[in-house]
Amino acid sequence: MNIDILLGKTKEHLVPLEGTKFFVHQQMLHDFLKLQQSAKKDGFDLQIASAFRDYDRQLSIWNAKARGERQLLDDQERPLDFSLLSPTQIVFAILRWSALPGCSRHHWGSDIDIFDGNSQNASEVKLVPSECIANGPAARLHEWLDVQLAHKKAFGFFRPYDTDQGGISPERWHLSYYPISRRVIDVYTFSVFKKNILESEVVLKEVILEHADEIFQRFIMSFDLP
Ligand SMILES: [Zn+2]
Repeated sequence: MNIDILLGKTKEHLVPLEGTKFFVHQQMLHDFLKLQQSAKKDGFDLQIASAFRDYDRQLSIWNAKARGERQLLDDQERPLDFSLLSPTQIVFAILRWSALPGCSRHHWGSDIDIFDGNSQNASEVKLVPSECIANGPAARLHEWLDVQLAHKKAFGFFRPYDTDQGGISPERWHLSYYPISRRVIDVYTFSVFKKNILESEVVLKEVILEHADEIFQRFIMSFDLP
């Protein structure tokens, strides 16, 4: 596999999703459309809020947060006071909600964030836990998806961040296409991770390198399986 696919540095594996601005992995498109059809039959408009994201976009998100230009949140979605945090605390606060450039599953084309177009406009979607539970606008869609997943009727999709493993915050809206993403994770080694960081223009690089082992284990290798 081309390492650039792991790192979000190429679009060669992608196709556009018709009628949207999004790109997805060409081998995932067919099964995504089947999942969307299946949802439609049961009364849901399963739409994508985010799909492929490239390296440069992830770098600018990271660096804005690492410079204090974008709000950091704690586990309960409450704003953190940037001026009170040490560099190490800043790195781990960002990692709870955002990936390092070269480390996002959204680089792979296999992963998407979803919402229910019947109950929310795309512009209203925030992708926060409260949208997906209780009376949240995407709650019914996710209850439906729970059933599909339990019966292996999700066409290869699963939730890699369903439970809190102490790394990335739970994200019920984030789906991954297993036939592709497991092939990527197989070749995503620690040396790929470390080389990517060393060669990057990421802010707080020294702190990230100092904690490289822990970051790799907690934020890249820790996820739920189907
Ligand atoms: Zn996501």
